[in-house]
Amino acid sequence: MTVELRGGLYIVATPIGNMKDLSIRAIEILENVFFIACEDTRVTGKLLFRYNVKTPMKAYHEHSTERVKNEILEAISENKAVAIVSDAGTPAISDPGYKLIKLCIEKNYYISAIPGANAAITGLVLSGIPTNRFVFFGFLNSKKIQKSNELAGLVDIPLTLIFYESPKRLVDTLQTMIKLLGNRPAAITRELTKRHEQVRRGSLKELFHYYQKVPAPKGELVLIVGGMEKKINVVDDNLDQIIIKRLKDKSLRDTSIEISDETGITKKIVYARALKLSKPKN
Ligand code: SAM
Repeated sequence: MTVELRGGLYIVATPIGNMKDLSIRAIEILENVFFIACEDTRVTGKLLFRYNVKTPMKAYHEHSTERVKNEILEAISENKAVAIVSDAGTPAISDPGYKLIKLCIEKNYYISAIPGANAAITGLVLSGIPTNRFVFFGFLNSKKIQKSNELAGLVDIPLTLIFYESPKRLVDTLQTMIKLLGNRPAAITRELTKRHEQVRRGSLKELFHYYQKVPAPKGELVLIVGGMEKKINVVDDNLDQIIIKRLKDKSLRDTSIEISDETGITKKIVYARALKLSKPKN
């Protein structure tokens, strides 16, 4: 169907495996843009063929030359509609797109996102790990020291953690996580939306022992790990009450350190609150 599109950049999510996971609106946009900027014309070509979309493609990735980037920006400046897609899922999520989006925002061009498949969210909802608050980390560094440093920075976060990981590095990553994050609930979601979709849930240790014994899993995976367990839930337990109780037999400093460790609230905040509570009221 021919539709008149406003000139601008259209960020179009494509399937992460199952070709049917492309929205009707996504097809309509892909059919009607001036051209489609994509990572790999062979991958996107297959999707377009499946949906009989004849729009021309232009290869665009993070290392594309200035020329390609300028061609995209020029087309938009001439009020043409241009779509950006990645090989799979949502562009700009561990995929090219962010720089182009930022440039379009800086130039005040119209941009629109057509939502759809994303491996992180699909894995998260299948994981059984809390979904209310989470951090998407994407790929950890492939080098061991950098990976350890990155994980060390996540130790205190009381939110579910989501990682993209290569099957080759899975065992090493699980082992490093056990060392740095401790044993936590986790899930490995693999080949999402595809024929051999699989979810394996367990503690980090259970998953490590399992994957250590079997050949590296095939395909693509998302690793979901529980956040730091709070020993005290400050929503349920009143922080002030806890501080007052501890201050009865502990110093301000010890109270702050202890409660900060247990709740994940920074020491500075707990200390300031404890200081206020320890002062006599006039
Ligand atoms: N932009 C994509 C998205 O929205 O999910 C992510 C692209 S990133 C380059 C590729 C990584 O996403 C893979 O290495 C894997 O960790 C994850 N991934 C993509 N498709 C997947 C699938 N069908 N099942 C599990 N993980 C997948």
